[in-house]
Amino acid sequence: MASLGIRGITKRFGATEVLKGIDLDLDDGEFLVLVGPSGCGKSTLLNIIAGLETPSEGEVVIGGAVVNDVAPRDRDIAMVFQSYALYPTMTVRENITFGLRMRGVAKPERERAVAKVATMLQIGPLLDRKPGQLSGGQRQRVAMGRALVRDPQIFLFDEPLSNLDAKLRVEMRHEIKTLHRAVARTMVYVTHDQVEAMTLASRIAVMHQGVIQHYGTPAEIYERPANLFVAGFMGAQS
Ligand code: ADP
Ligand code: MG
Repeated sequence: MASLGIRGITKRFGATEVLKGIDLDLDDGEFLVLVGPSGCGKSTLLNIIAGLETPSEGEVVIGGAVVNDVAPRDRDIAMVFQSYALYPTMTVRENITFGLRMRGVAKPERERAVAKVATMLQIGPLLDRKPGQLSGGQRQRVAMGRALVRDPQIFLFDEPLSNLDAKLRVEMRHEIKTLHRAVARTMVYVTHDQVEAMTLASRIAVMHQGVIQHYGTPAEIYERPANLFVAGFMGAQS
């Protein structure tokens, strides 16, 4: 398993500084929820961890090693976006195994991997369908399957449930929690939804305008919010 460190990360787009010195240290197997209003820099930070964006300053440390110069595909990270990120012309099976195929994993091994993931996520009957023939919740399961099959050290989620209706969101939240228990990997989960943050997290980082306003357990943040922004944002009904 791998710990994750964020050391003094800043990010500028032109003259605008969207991350202003972010520090975080996560132990192996931690579930961090990064929560904050739209535009506060959550996705940018997640993309920097994944290697999809380069920080202006600072370091990303995985398992004790600085990975700033490591390409995204070599970081042992998998990212789950909203469900529309599936390949529409591929079947569910092809969507899930695509990454393995690109890495040159042989077919029997790919089949074993997809079978294991399908059982875990209960999507066995869907493997030969195309994404267009799936419900929103099913598509989201497939997106998780695509991440799981790589067996990464770290999972990153960027608002994966925001396209789903309220009932399904609650159900999928439960599934993600179960998944975390089952695989026991480090997860970083971005959302603007306070309830989602409180129910999923072992640690929460509340972000506002490129700064982490409070980092702590859900109970700490609930009982002793660091400032008025944290109290107001976390106390609001989503
Ligand atoms: P969040 O995910 O919290 O909604 P983002 O990380 O997507 O926020 O964006 C943070 C800020 O950075 C926003 O003001 C956004 O407009 C800006 N931003 C994000 N990506 C780019 C980019 N590639 N070029 C310029 N500005 C960007
Ligand atoms: Mg975002």
